[in-house]
Amino acid sequence: MEERSLNFIEQIVEKDLQEGKNDGRIQTRFPPEPNGYLHIGHAKAICMDFGIAQKYNGICNLRFDDTNPSKEDVEYVDSIQQDIQWLGFHWGAVFYASDYFQQLYDLAIKFIKEGKAYVDEQTSEQIAQQKGTPTQAGTESPYRNRPIEESLALFEKMQAGEIEEGKMVLRAKIDMANPNMHFRDPIIYRIIKSHPHHRTGRKWNVYPMYDFAHGQSDYFEGVTHSICTLEFVVHRPLYDWFLEQFVTGDYRPYQYEFNRLNITYTVMSKRKMLQLVEQKIVRGWDDPRMPTISGLRRRGYTAKSIRDFIQKIGYTKVEGTIDLSLLEHTIREELKETAPRVCAIFNPVKLVITNYEGQGETIEAENIDGHPEFGTRTMPFAKELYIERQDFLENADKNFYRLSPNGREVRLKAAYIIQATHCEKDAQGNITTVFATYDPTSKSGTEGGNRKTKSTINWVECSSCVDATVRLYDKLFTVENPSADERDFIELLNPNSLQEVNCKVEQTLKNEMRVLPKKDGCAEQHHYQFLKNGFFVVDEDTTDEKLIFNRVVSLKE
Ligand code: ATP
Ligand code: MG
Repeated sequence: MEERSLNFIEQIVEKDLQEGKNDGRIQTRFPPEPNGYLHIGHAKAICMDFGIAQKYNGICNLRFDDTNPSKEDVEYVDSIQQDIQWLGFHWGAVFYASDYFQQLYDLAIKFIKEGKAYVDEQTSEQIAQQKGTPTQAGTESPYRNRPIEESLALFEKMQAGEIEEGKMVLRAKIDMANPNMHFRDPIIYRIIKSHPHHRTGRKWNVYPMYDFAHGQSDYFEGVTHSICTLEFVVHRPLYDWFLEQFVTGDYRPYQYEFNRLNITYTVMSKRKMLQLVEQKIVRGWDDPRMPTISGLRRRGYTAKSIRDFIQKIGYTKVEGTIDLSLLEHTIREELKETAPRVCAIFNPVKLVITNYEGQGETIEAENIDGHPEFGTRTMPFAKELYIERQDFLENADKNFYRLSPNGREVRLKAAYIIQATHCEKDAQGNITTVFATYDPTSKSGTEGGNRKTKSTINWVECSSCVDATVRLYDKLFTVENPSADERDFIELLNPNSLQEVNCKVEQTLKNEMRVLPKKDGCAEQHHYQFLKNGFFVVDEDTTDEKLIFNRVVSLKE
């Protein structure tokens, strides 16, 4: 990996280490809410959180931020673990915010007893109306100064399940006039009874809000650097305030923020992605058009390409949007070096070599041209081949360098030089067969094989080639920034984001007709470059009877 200068978080960490903070201990966490699949934005956070721990001999724990049972599910818990492992990272331990429900509840009781929290019986609308504006103080709730005993008793009733959802909340009693709106008596507990919790079942009827749970969980676990994205900058004073109310020793966690990843032509909110899945606009969370880790994996992105991309874009303190083409560039550069080349004919027309005698032969073709170390493959060759329809023109002008009955010589990739003689058509005038003659002394790899032609065309041999379905993907959205558009994002979908095409591929790909083996629950990735058509990966829908490929990315931008 190329040398790079320290990012600003690494600089902070190195300074803390130099100053001997926390006895040189570095601990981070990655805190996803299990309410959806991870997306490439999360990969940016993962590379930071796990990367810091790796680089400075620390620990990064995985903490599921599972404080809202109405949206969370074990399916998400499982997929998140799988995706992190696939990306190549290892956590110290797996924790859940729900591990701390008792501690957080006890802390809430302590806050009430110290006059720092109260039960509010207003509706959420009323509370919102009283918030004020950044320049105008909010209005105090009529319940703000109720006796401590009353709040205590009501909070216990809330937890006992005796109060209806939405009827009461617990609020921190801080400052309704604070210029930071988050200090205006934030809600710290709400009632949720509609859904059981995926781990604690029906034990709890009250659940802590993010601001009350996150810093405290960091503290309970011993996190030193709690790294998140810039939208939490405004929450940081509150993060600090809560800790200051109960932490007594020297140790406490600190929060640092970097810029979120946004990518053009993409939405990355889990709520929106869930809508695409539920409305069956895509085939699932792992649809190759999705920006999820599982979708990118199925599309053929490697874990390395995702890590390289994150490294390229870096970490700053200003929001911005990254061009989708940079992500595509990263995988293209990698596959150029590693993917074996094969012929796939997308719009076939038959080619008959009239002077070819005998039963056929085999051609040894290099998997990657000019790189014998990547090995060779065998291509059957015979009298009847398929070539791309657009590689033949009956009446071509002098600028057309491919096949035409004009005496021009063209090389069949890795094989012989041919010259077209004529063609046959059906009643509608469509060309059904192209005829040519070949030069038996021109075989690639022999002495005559060095003769140059203006062009080389791809082919597969008719009797040995295999039918395959290829899925060609385009951008999921038609506008660069679907989230900033005033139209609903569903209206901005690209109707042509998936196109399925049948093609004929060379025999060597028969080996891929089977169920792909799985590693850590993820199907292995088998990549190819289909000459002149792009980079492809075997899709996990492939069986021992049908071959299905996804186009990862085209050959050029
Ligand atoms: P969403 O809005 O998609 O639901 P989220 O921020 O609510 O995302 P979490 O599961 O809470 O998702 O996120 C876990 C961690 O990943 C957080 O630390 C968050 O800051 C980080 N994260 C989420 N989205 C991005 C992004 N686009 N770029 C960088 N980091 C992100
Ligand atoms: Mg969140």
